[in-house]
Amino acid sequence: MGLNLAVMGPPGAGKGTQADRIAATHGLPKISTGDILRAAIKAQSPLGLAAKAMMEAGGLVDDRIVIGIVSERLQEPDAQAGFLLDGFPRTVEQARELDRIMAEHCEGPLLVVNVEVPDEELVRRLLSRRICEQCGTNVDPEDAGTACRRCGGVPVQRKDDVEDVVRERLAVYERQTRPLIEFYQARPTFRAVNGAQVPDLVTADLTAVVASAREQTT
Ligand code: AMP
Repeated sequence: MGLNLAVMGPPGAGKGTQADRIAATHGLPKISTGDILRAAIKAQSPLGLAAKAMMEAGGLVDDRIVIGIVSERLQEPDAQAGFLLDGFPRTVEQARELDRIMAEHCEGPLLVVNVEVPDEELVRRLLSRRICEQCGTNVDPEDAGTACRRCGGVPVQRKDDVEDVVRERLAVYERQTRPLIEFYQARPTFRAVNGAQVPDLVTADLTAVVASAREQTT
């Protein structure tokens, strides 16, 4: 049975970096709603136009929009053998809908891993983060002055990684996303890892947690 995984956590917890690594080692398609929305903004598509203002203000894009994106994406052939969700679900409504979508279209349970990091560390990380302007991947802070290793693009700050927007995103997380921990906590497929460690240790913990949860649920 394939692995269906959702990586959760506050903004700046390192979800994107960890999701890239786990998706690569487990051969899973990574489905990042943030990446999909940023690509839509860059392409100036109707989806991008609908999402832009909300994203730049640090709020959440409408549930119906992101649920629609994920529902379509999970029905594509490559997601049938498992998938990794990064940044979705972010509200209880999205989590309920995900249960419905999975009951209809997916096989096997959803393993949810929450990446935990204290607030002061999140602010520090988000304000120093740079992403590649071209391919959107996180640039190692030590490489911030040089071209992206993957594609040669220029490292830039995300529009929502400036201080007032960062504070708003953390407040939105507390209000709308943290309640999801309670939603998932009682399930045998919920796990947490310490995201305040260096990235390689977080990856090691995540890998171990995924392996043990799979053993217990299959
Ligand atoms: P991320 O790249 O995951 O930090 O997402 C960046 C921004 O995209 C968020 O601050 C939201 O505005 C929007 N976004 C991404 N995923 C979701 C989601 N599941 N629900 C609502 N908005 C989202």
